Amino acid sequence: MTRPSLPIIDAAYIAGQWRRTERRFTVTDPATGDTLAEVPDLTADDAREAVAAAESAWPAWRRRTAKQRAGLLRAWFDAIMTHQEPLARLMTREQGKPLAESRGEVAYGASFVEFYAEEAKRMAGETLPGHGADKRILVFREPIGVVAAITPWNFPLAMITRKCAPALAAGCPVVIKPAEATPLTALALAKLAEDVGFPAGVINVITAENPAAVGEVLTTDPRVRKISFTGSTAVGKRLLAQCAGTVKKASMELGGNAPFIVFDDADLDDAVEGAVASKYRNSGQTCVCTNRLLVQAGVYDAFVEKLAARVAELKVGNGLDEGVAQGPLINAAAVDKVREHIADALEKGGRLVCGGESHDLGGTFFQPTVIADVTPAMRVAREETFGPLAPVFRFDDDAEAIALANATEFGLAAYFYARDYRRIWHVMEGLEYGMVAVNEGILSTELAPFGGVKESGLGREGSHHGLDEFTELKYVCVGGL
Ligand code: NAD
Repeated sequence: MTRPSLPIIDAAYIAGQWRRTERRFTVTDPATGDTLAEVPDLTADDAREAVAAAESAWPAWRRRTAKQRAGLLRAWFDAIMTHQEPLARLMTREQGKPLAESRGEVAYGASFVEFYAEEAKRMAGETLPGHGADKRILVFREPIGVVAAITPWNFPLAMITRKCAPALAAGCPVVIKPAEATPLTALALAKLAEDVGFPAGVINVITAENPAAVGEVLTTDPRVRKISFTGSTAVGKRLLAQCAGTVKKASMELGGNAPFIVFDDADLDDAVEGAVASKYRNSGQTCVCTNRLLVQAGVYDAFVEKLAARVAELKVGNGLDEGVAQGPLINAAAVDKVREHIADALEKGGRLVCGGESHDLGGTFFQPTVIADVTPAMRVAREETFGPLAPVFRFDDDAEAIALANATEFGLAAYFYARDYRRIWHVMEGLEYGMVAVNEGILSTELAPFGGVKESGLGREGSHHGLDEFTELKYVCVGGL
């Protein structure tokens, strides 16, 4: 049997055509600095063309039966999983995460395609009791229309499928604008979709080095009915403001500042494993990554010691190499932010337990770092570090832990480890977060609604709730019966 392969694609995808342009930008491997490809640097006009292609593909796409759309999604899922290995290698090369994590992301991303292939067939409306003997109330769920999906670099595949699979299942065409650092995985996904027979214009991918001009089209063109964005809170706010002019529906998966609380009755070994998975996965560049470790005074020293010992075992290196647990950071700016947070914490009385410096490998490789005796006055308390830094705060009782955990404008994911069942219920209910993990370090799954409260976002992705984001309700009053 021949091993499946995937060539690197260096063209954007509009109206079923692969488009190459003279203006191009470079995609590099963050582990080596090597150029992987040059892809088209598209303009606002190109974005309008992609929107027009999606708009013209819409009527036929929504008229297909749910079963036909489900069949295509299922074929796309099979194609993604058949190409799990080459997709994972491509992702590691353009994004840097260890190969095992890339394989996991391909499977996780594909799971949304499989799930929404199934869910497409269950997009039910309803009938409600009428308000008169001669009247009936029908509620239809209809596809919202052209969807623009703008995605970040930290999950180059899953952030696309998490949006596009439910949109396509609902009967909406999509225009995808992947992050400028990681367009190659997005283009490979589009190629697989073309191969399995998605009609021209139903899936479009536009690449741009400077996202503002194409972003303006996607957020202001009245033909785009829905924007689904994952990225930073600052950009999300800007896009929301741009959407106001056409009252465009928007889903926003934004930044986080996840607390990871360890209570004195927790299983400390489990908590350390959970903390390492939640903090250092993807080099700390995950929106649901632990940003703050809050540890109860009675177990503080023991926890910090165990955590440091475990972190010292993490192997840093090129994600393609065997046994590597932490790859490079995405770029120099990401390294600067980690350094600034470390310097600020140490200046204000933090204690460096391990790491703290660039890794000997150079480039954007950074040592996994732990800082103890962290206080709310430090930047790490308020800002998302988005890097391999674990700051450890101390607290005395449950009320203080909950107050500290909630003292942020973000509300995406929170984690805690405890055994007392009354404490578990009270803390779970007290946390102002869209997602809470109890005695678990990883919570993402296609089966659950993913999303945040407060400034972490609007809307949910995954589960049956994820489909609602791409549908509108139409109430039909049937009278004169
Ligand atoms: P970013 O906001 O800089 O970029 C995200 C996307 O928006 C990219 O495709 C970028 O090109 C595009 N963009 C930037 N400016 C734009 C503009 N003016 N118009 C249109 N598009 C524009 O974020 P990032 O650095 O790529 O990703 C990291 C951030 O994403 C972190 O804050 C992280 O927490 C967040 N994130 C959130 C989730 C979630 O589900 N809540 C998941 C992953 C990442």
